[in-house]
Order: sequence, then structure tokens, then C-alpha cells
Amino acid sequence: MQRKRTKKRRIRKGRTITFVTVLFLLLVSLIFGIQKVFLSKNSKTASTSSSLSTSSSSSSKVSSTSKQTSSGSSSSSSNQSPLETGSKSDWQLVLVNLKNKKPEMNPSLTTIDNIQMDTRIVQNVQDFLAAAQQIDSRVHLISGYRSVAYQTSLFNGYVQQTLAANPGWTEAEATAEVMKTSQPPQASEHETGLAMDMSTADELNAEDTATAAAIAKIAPDYGFVLRFPSWGTASTGIDYEDWHFRYVGEATAKYMTAQNLTLEDFLAKLSK
Ligand SMILES: [Zn+2]
Repeated sequence: MQRKRTKKRRIRKGRTITFVTVLFLLLVSLIFGIQKVFLSKNSKTASTSSSLSTSSSSSSKVSSTSKQTSSGSSSSSSNQSPLETGSKSDWQLVLVNLKNKKPEMNPSLTTIDNIQMDTRIVQNVQDFLAAAQQIDSRVHLISGYRSVAYQTSLFNGYVQQTLAANPGWTEAEATAEVMKTSQPPQASEHETGLAMDMSTADELNAEDTATAAAIAKIAPDYGFVLRFPSWGTASTGIDYEDWHFRYVGEATAKYMTAQNLTLEDFLAKLSK
């Protein structure tokens, strides 16, 4: 890049050329720098268009750094919002509630400790359980997949217990009471194999509140959300449950938690 000039009489001319060359190089690097900044900004805002090779390479950098910070699985692509990538037909977003009853789903199951969960999320369950046990060693799995038949006997049993405890009540009153915390057959998402109850205590909402909050906070790292938060009763129709966690996938779980959305809220925002 620099030409040597040995002849003394050309020294002055040589200095001028060197000066011009340096100036030129500075200008080129300045233009290149500005272009680089502009392109990376462009790829962040317009993440849907991936025609530019520079933008796709810089977005793959973003996804690889986000992989380093996240310990769970899933979320194959990019920095797009789960609202853009998600679909109501995604297996991990299946909605089961009173308004969306499902007949027996027969998921493929694996037993962890003494509960059964959808085989696809076994690693997430194990990792979440291990992390929760770091918070409190007494944390354990209580309930996972339930068949429609099992949910039927469970629900009917609760109604009978409630009737026995409240002699003056009608069956309708007892049923309404039970439905605050338990769902009738075909309306419980335990049927999916994607929901589980996990706590230090064997009773609902009996966990130390600080422990419950700490566990709910790390849940999204493993793809889970606290499914029935106290602020979500209006959309879920179910009172606060400190132990019920639902797998929705890591990116969606983080999004829902950050935006204070229940699964019902999130699905209502999906366009497809
Ligand atoms: Zn539950």
C-alpha cells in the first residue's frame, strides 16, 4: 500500500502521496464502518426480510448468543416474537379448558419420579425440577398427565367430598365449588401431558410464597409458565394455583411472562 521512493528529490512528493493514501484509507474505513452499523440496525428492525446476506449472518449471531443464555431447549429460529412464529395448531400451545374440551388425547408418555409427562418434554421437566430443588430441596412432582377416565373419577370424588363437608349444599353448588380449583373431565389440561403440579407441599397454595415466587420466576427458562397466576383469573376462570405449571416452549413462556399474558390471552393474540 505504500510505495517506497528512494530518490531524495522525490521525498516531498512521496510525503504528499502517503498523506493522500492515509486519508483515502481513513475515508474508506469510515464509509465501511457506517455501512456496517446501518446494516446491523436494518437486520434488527426488519427481521422478516432476509434477502441481505449481511443481515442473515448478523441475525444468526443474535440467535447463537441467545442460545448461550438460555438453558432449556426449543425455539429453533431467530429473534422473532413468538406472536409471529407461533400458531394455534402448535402442539405445545394446545388449549384445554371449560370452553375448549378435548376427548382423550393419548399423548406419548414417560414416567418421571412417579408422574407421567409427554415424552417430548421429559428433559425440560427434569431440568426444571432440578433447578427448583436448588431453591428448596423439598420440591417434588405431584401430578402430571391424567387420562379423561382418571379425571372423571378424581372430579366426582372431589364433588362427593365437598357434599359430605357441606351437608346443606346441592350437587350443583358442590360442583361449582370444586370447579374453582379442579376441572371436569375433558377440560383439564393435565390431559395433555404438558401440565404438572410441583411444590414443596402436597396441598394447593400451601407453599411458602417466596419459594413459590422464586420457582415461578425460573419456570420460563425451562419452557414452563405458572398457568394460573393470581392476576389471570379473569381470563383463565381458575383461581391462583401456586403449583400448576404448563409447558408452552421457552420463547413463548418468556414472552408470556414478560407481557403478563395467560395462555388464553396469548392465543387470542395469534393471527394463525
Ligand atoms: Zn394442576
